[in-house]
Amino acid sequence: MSNKVLVLAEVREGVLRNVSFEAIAASKQIADGGEVVGVLIGDGVSQLAGELIAYGADRVVTVEHPHLKTYTSDGFSQAFLAVYNQEKPNAVVFGHTSLGKDLSPKIASKLQSGLISDVTEIEGSGSAAVYIRPIYSGKAFEKVKVKEGITFVTVRPNNIAPLTKDTGRTGAVSALSVEITNLRTIIKEVVRKSTTGVDLSEAKVVVAGGRGVKSAEGFEPLQQLADLLGGAVGASRGACDADYCDYSLQIGQTGKVVTPDLYIAAGISGAIQHLAGMSNSKVIVAINKDPEANIFKVADYGIVGDLFEVIPLLIEEFKAL
Ligand code: FAD
Repeated sequence: MSNKVLVLAEVREGVLRNVSFEAIAASKQIADGGEVVGVLIGDGVSQLAGELIAYGADRVVTVEHPHLKTYTSDGFSQAFLAVYNQEKPNAVVFGHTSLGKDLSPKIASKLQSGLISDVTEIEGSGSAAVYIRPIYSGKAFEKVKVKEGITFVTVRPNNIAPLTKDTGRTGAVSALSVEITNLRTIIKEVVRKSTTGVDLSEAKVVVAGGRGVKSAEGFEPLQQLADLLGGAVGASRGACDADYCDYSLQIGQTGKVVTPDLYIAAGISGAIQHLAGMSNSKVIVAINKDPEANIFKVADYGIVGDLFEVIPLLIEEFKAL
């Protein structure tokens, strides 16, 4: 039997999230020449099918319903399970996002399947694939192999490179009609906090501040630097607890996990709980007054100094480029 992989695409405000393309790349590796079927769930999302195909999906199934306009685990699990029952794949791939983390255990338990969550790398392909995921707050990695049953994985954003977009690719798009019933939650309105627009979990550059930033105003130069680099601002829990910024910016064990190309940590001591959320960043730059700060142990580049002097200098330098 040839492999078939179902991959859930994620849409936010009418736009496909990058993690969807990364999940397709992972699915290709798992399918090992078999078929990758993209799943689009929502209300008014079908027009995005072509983009999934351009990034490597062989076919797309859409489920549209007014109750699917906003994510609820009830609604999306009914829609996804209907596609699953139609397609009978050997593997399922989700992004390890807030949505994926909420939905994947629910679907896996309904399918009586195991779940390999937060995969950062896949070695090999097809049934021989080995899934690598961080454990113990990122201090170690474990390798997991699937011996039997459905392969069900969630992939951490920013780790598996998407395939190159090819607008010449073609594939079938079909609509599946699903009756969405007995919803326990109906979302009437979504009120979003205003942000700069770059999603922290998917940002290629993160400028994060800690208690050393000292105030909400202290975050302004960090925001300027992030804007200049097309990145997002993040924070330590110390900064969030001190009310310098919103908890939605918290990075770490009990916050968001980020893996940007560049992570700039300013005024952050580098507690183990913070490292759990950022130590897999590709390049880490630490700015701290204390040369003994733990953050320097994971930093690729360390600047011992006052962040209020260093950040404006960095802004000047980047502006001059
Ligand atoms: P501090 O440890 O106070 O460090 C501030 C740093 O700023 C110092 O190193 C200081 O030298 C430097 N500094 C001060 N002024 C300047 C300046 N002008 N210029 C440059 N440097 C300066 N923390 C997280 O971040 N994320 C989590 O998800 C998280 N989860 C947790 C879960 C649990 C169960 C527990 C117990 C703790 C958790 N924590 C988490 C908290 C964590 O243990 C630390 O308390 C927290 O990360 C410290 O934040 P900080 O580095 O900003 O503050």
